[in-house]
Amino acid sequence: MIQPPIDLSRARELLAQAPRIAVLTGAGISKPSGIPTFRDAPGPQANVKPITAMNMTLFRADPPAAWATHWPRVLAMRAAQPNGAHHLLSRLEAQIDARAVAHPETRDAYEFTLVTQNIDGLHQRAGTRQVIELHGTAHKAQCTNKTCKVSFELDVSLAPAVPLCPLCGTAGRPGVVWFGEQLHPVRARLAKSAFLYAHVALIIGTSAQVYPAAGYAQEARAWGTTLIEINPEETDLTRLCHLSLRVSAEEGLRALMDVTR
Ligand SMILES: [Zn+2]
Repeated sequence: MIQPPIDLSRARELLAQAPRIAVLTGAGISKPSGIPTFRDAPGPQANVKPITAMNMTLFRADPPAAWATHWPRVLAMRAAQPNGAHHLLSRLEAQIDARAVAHPETRDAYEFTLVTQNIDGLHQRAGTRQVIELHGTAHKAQCTNKTCKVSFELDVSLAPAVPLCPLCGTAGRPGVVWFGEQLHPVRARLAKSAFLYAHVALIIGTSAQVYPAAGYAQEARAWGTTLIEINPEETDLTRLCHLSLRVSAEEGLRALMDVTR
């Protein structure tokens, strides 16, 4: 069954009542925080090569060179601050938590899941707790010893050196998913089920062309999830969404959450 499109006031109602909300965010939400999007390069930070230019073969050939490319990105993300849109999503999560507390008998029915394609960690810094980082995080490294594989926090005071695993001393690799690599299977499964079981899903600042995010919207819609897009530009997902707000992430969230300041 194809659900008809909805208007802003209906979207507000749904968002204010929905027990289960899933959110997908992409580069667009972090742009006001100064994190360059892949498409923007080359720009003011043209010296920071896009992360997708790296792969495991290149990394193994020259780990110090790979880290020399990666560290400036890590440091830029550490220096960046969450913006209004990140804070509004954190507030939305708190609202769902409050609804769950107000309805103890059906507490388990409430769930907020934020799935992000971003590696900048800004959602967590804004206070959101349920975050699935589909593409990993710039703030961690992963041990390249296959019998260890431990993930560890980066110590920025060590830049630009190759970080070594605290357990076995092997070189770490950036904790992000490189082009052509598989997503973490558990993260991908959790992200998908959050979308399928959500009453309302927000798709913010991403054209979701990256697999598998595009598939979430399609399947979620078939499962009855109301899809709301916030993006200044039309995307391939626009036609699938019940409502598409052609504004910035912060403006769109303010409108949907009825927040004036
Ligand atoms: Zn190790």
